[in-house]
Amino acid sequence: MNLIFLGPPGSGKGTQAVRLAEEKSLVHLSTGDVLRAAVKAGTELGKKAEGFMTRGELVPDDLIISLIEEKIAAGDLKNGFILDGFPRTVPQAKSLDEMFKKNRITLDKAILLEVGDAEILKRIKGRAEKEGRADDTEEVIMNRLEVYRKQTQPIEDRYREQSVLVTIPGENTPDNIFAAVVKAVS
Ligand code: AMP
Repeated sequence: MNLIFLGPPGSGKGTQAVRLAEEKSLVHLSTGDVLRAAVKAGTELGKKAEGFMTRGELVPDDLIISLIEEKIAAGDLKNGFILDGFPRTVPQAKSLDEMFKKNRITLDKAILLEVGDAEILKRIKGRAEKEGRADDTEEVIMNRLEVYRKQTQPIEDRYREQSVLVTIPGENTPDNIFAAVVKAVS
């Protein structure tokens, strides 16, 4: 099973993606996690990405696209996957379509968790206190939300047209959302 998880920051997509990956034995690939690890390790990628991340902006497409290309080339995605946090722009989504075609990968579903802005702000403030992520301040979060609405939301149409988009209301308990997610992919 090959899946993409979509949703604004704080929609719970990371939590749900990890849980579903475990349940269905899929590889969970979070570009945010890969980038945070790269920043921590001080790699070239990390050095290039850090400034964008702390400002709540998107890292340039070419960096992220090559990261995914490497994962596909290494065979990391061959037994089923959940992409979490990628694609996030129209050019990324177009490149991913091409990568899928070239490697004969079929996308089964794009799962969209829908959560309103007020609820997101509330959740992220809680997460900032718990995890201390550098990009969880209110100002940065407002920026990340705006970036999501402007740059990422347009890709929903692409998956709607491919008839793979499933929208799940994300303002619910994690267990109820998970039940809806499981139902959507079965
Ligand atoms: P996330 O953990 O998915 O919220 O990602 C944290 C940050 O990493 C984002 O705010 C971006 O700066 C960067 N990032 C993660 N995935 C992508 C992507 N697909 N394209 C561009 N930037 C990304």
